[in-house]
Amino acid sequence: MSGPVARGGSEPVGRRADAGYRQRYGGPPTGCWAAPGRVNLIGEHTDYNDGFVLPFALPHRTVVAAGPAPAGGPTWTVWSEQSGEEIVIDESDADSPGAVDGWGAYVAGVIWALRQANFAVPAARLAIASDVPLGAGLSSSAALEAAVLTALADLGGIGPDRLPVPDRPVLAQRAENGYVGVPCGIMDQSASIRCQAGHALFLDCRSLEVEQVPFDLATAGLAVEVIDTRAPHRHVSGEYAARRAACEQAAAMLGVPALRDVPADGLPAALDRLPDETMRRRVRHVVTENQRVRDTVALLRAGRVGGIGPLLTASHASMRDDFEITVAEVDTAVAAALTAGAYGARMTGGGFGGCVLALVDAGAAGQVAAAVGEAFADNGFAAPACFTALPATGAERID
Ligand code: ADP
Ligand code: MG
Repeated sequence: MSGPVARGGSEPVGRRADAGYRQRYGGPPTGCWAAPGRVNLIGEHTDYNDGFVLPFALPHRTVVAAGPAPAGGPTWTVWSEQSGEEIVIDESDADSPGAVDGWGAYVAGVIWALRQANFAVPAARLAIASDVPLGAGLSSSAALEAAVLTALADLGGIGPDRLPVPDRPVLAQRAENGYVGVPCGIMDQSASIRCQAGHALFLDCRSLEVEQVPFDLATAGLAVEVIDTRAPHRHVSGEYAARRAACEQAAAMLGVPALRDVPADGLPAALDRLPDETMRRRVRHVVTENQRVRDTVALLRAGRVGGIGPLLTASHASMRDDFEITVAEVDTAVAAALTAGAYGARMTGGGFGGCVLALVDAGAAGQVAAAVGEAFADNGFAAPACFTALPATGAERID
């Protein structure tokens, strides 16, 4: 790993959460629960169009050490190493979206969503540590929600019989949409909760059906290099809302529930029916991107991991030229990775900054990272942070 991706110390993150709990609350936690960040291999801005995505879990995780709250104290006390703060949440905060803001809103939002679904959330004390970079597009927010949700469900005896795993991402998404106020799709929470090691998660964002698709990089002698461009996010929420609105408007004009319902072979006819060039480009991105996800899945099912490179690069071109969500740092990273020998490269995440992933020979990851670093220096950009990612496991109790 080059660049300071992990924050908060060199101890493993589980140990830091556990130590934080003991130090603050004066005894051991009942347990520790972990949930990962994610990268999306392919399928960008398809989730809110009822389409397809293919994320995999990162080895970077958020860990929640949790135990019951003593009687007479605050209902929920939460400390996060990343923020350095301890906050308290009571029932009335948890029942009023917006009552807690900042990072605590993600925790209060999970409690709110559980209570809205009629689950009794146990009074608890939590200590949180994470090595998922915050705000880099690797989904630290979903990792936080998923870790808190898994911890509180287990602590409260809310097992998979009462709250099935496939329903959990919806609750975590509701926390972010309804309490934090971020209109995200279902991908991030699904990835953090449902991913399995060695696999990418093929998710149908309409039916919420999933398929665990083998993504065996090691056997193929390959690696995914993740490049956090550290580009400052510019106008993200406004641009996101504009893209979403354009997609919804186009679907209405085409008389379909969502752009997912425009088949790839029906694209030319659909484009002919749309009034302006910008809208046509937005639609072309979504429809072709859904097809690229399906094509990627077909190659992975056949074990042809190396074959997906051109699909990744085509996805990037579509985000750059048709959906117009890339920025100079991201385009520079993709171009430099490809020149340095990557089989394919693309921005991953919602855009306007964030991360790039590149499919590379396992032995060439360092060389690709170095080439991107040089290209950034030549362009006067701040140094990127690079790491190699293998598909890891979703939310789980770790001790
Ligand atoms: P991303 O999900 O791509 O990392 P977001 O903007 O969606 O970016 O979420 C980042 C926010 O999530 C942070 O600003 C912070 O409020 C919250 N967050 C995530 N992880 C933690 C953590 N371990 N401790 C405190 N806050 C966190
Ligand atoms: Mg997020």
